[in-house]
Amino acid sequence: MAPLSAAGRMAALGRGGPSLLQLTLALIKPDAVAHPLILEAIHQQILSNQLLIVRTRDLVWRREDCQQFYQEHAGRFFYQRLVEFMASGPIRAYILAHKDAVQLWRTLMGPTRVFRARHVAPDSIRGSFGLTDTRNTTHGSDSVVSARREIAAFFPDFSERHWYAE
Ligand code: ADP
Repeated sequence: MAPLSAAGRMAALGRGGPSLLQLTLALIKPDAVAHPLILEAIHQQILSNQLLIVRTRDLVWRREDCQQFYQEHAGRFFYQRLVEFMASGPIRAYILAHKDAVQLWRTLMGPTRVFRARHVAPDSIRGSFGLTDTRNTTHGSDSVVSARREIAAFFPDFSERHWYAE
């Protein structure tokens, strides 16, 4: 199933009413992007859960941007490892839309730590494909406020006004 076209996305927004949609930032981390079948399985999870794909971007993250993004974890024992990993290869960024996009995407990802993900949410993305607590396949914004900031970091030309305009 192909992602919706721009016209299809606009039609979907019109049907639901723009104010009903929430945006979130999803990242597919280097461990998952490196495996085409895992990347495709995650993409299918997005589509089959009625998350609208608003934008995508494939990139290799600059180390400094990565450090900035994960600033809240600076000083934690895994911070350096996380930064090195996230800047180590291609990642994919998505802006996803749904009436409950932040929580829905986080539920699809599953818990942060892989051991826990495998036990409490074995069918989640992390439960299925996570390798370690750091190499855990995906990122998702943890609130609407974070989503706004994180979307701006990856898609500086994106304006929510495109989607929420009267
Ligand atoms: P989440 O990505 O689920 O929102 P956090 O914001 O707490 O989780 O952590 C950001 C990322 O840092 C995680 O996705 C994971 O890659 C890494 N991380 C978090 N906790 C640990 C840990 N205890 N050991 C190793 N890496 C961790």
